[in-house]
Amino acid sequence: MKHEFQQLSPHILIMHAEHETDRPILAAITGERRTLLMDAGNSPAHAELFRQEMAKRGMRQPELIVLTHWHWDHSFGMSAWKVPVIAHEGTAEVLGSLAGRSWSDDDLEELVLTGTLSEESAQHIRLEYGDNRNITVVKPDIVFTESINVDLGGVTCELSHVGGDHSADSCILHVKEDNVLFLGDALGPSVYGGPRQYSSTGFLNLLGLAYGYNAQWVVESHGVPMSTAEFRADLAPWERLARIVDVFGHNRERVVKELKDYLKLQELPADLLQGVEYFLAGSK
Ligand SMILES: [Zn+2]
Repeated sequence: MKHEFQQLSPHILIMHAEHETDRPILAAITGERRTLLMDAGNSPAHAELFRQEMAKRGMRQPELIVLTHWHWDHSFGMSAWKVPVIAHEGTAEVLGSLAGRSWSDDDLEELVLTGTLSEESAQHIRLEYGDNRNITVVKPDIVFTESINVDLGGVTCELSHVGGDHSADSCILHVKEDNVLFLGDALGPSVYGGPRQYSSTGFLNLLGLAYGYNAQWVVESHGVPMSTAEFRADLAPWERLARIVDVFGHNRERVVKELKDYLKLQELPADLLQGVEYFLAGSK
């Protein structure tokens, strides 16, 4: 798999996302004293590619990891780095409960049946690891409840718990001096344990929070970095949809009509039509 790398800001190198096996963005944040890694990668192979790139650039390797949430694609690379991991208590709890599993086909099937994983994630795990699934899930070393600051030497990172539909343990990471905001998957819909859904109120709260940083770059883990202006423009239809659902709740026809009128479109694009279903499911 070919990954692209980007020096996003003076202290941040990112490895872009790869959708084939659901590899999220990883970021190395480098201060005068330490390097911090945001998210561990979805596998040791994923982690190794970033490690090699940092070595090639003569960068200090990560000495600490922060996790944005427990999901496999963000955490299963942990064992490869052999450094302390900082995570929200909810993240630690789930990862602790997943340690010691076999990750065989039967095991994956059971995790899908119990709603711990989705079929889509199980499929991505099979693709990323092949048949010989040597997966070691590790429990994080340092656990926090609301937020935690990490001083890397002239560069300060604040990891804050925000929760939301996607995963109750979701955190966002703000690199203060570079004013870069990593949102993890916090703005995504729920993905495990039933049909995907969004709660309009929760979504709008998170959006307001993200806009409030007025960040130089806003980074969603499975997307591409955007300026705050680009991010606002990108999210505008979704913000509007959430507001419409807040008012017209269960009336699908009305929700679709209001959104079409706002966007001045005859038909809604596929992603927004799907969004309507997620928000309606979340408003029940
Ligand atoms: Zn996720």
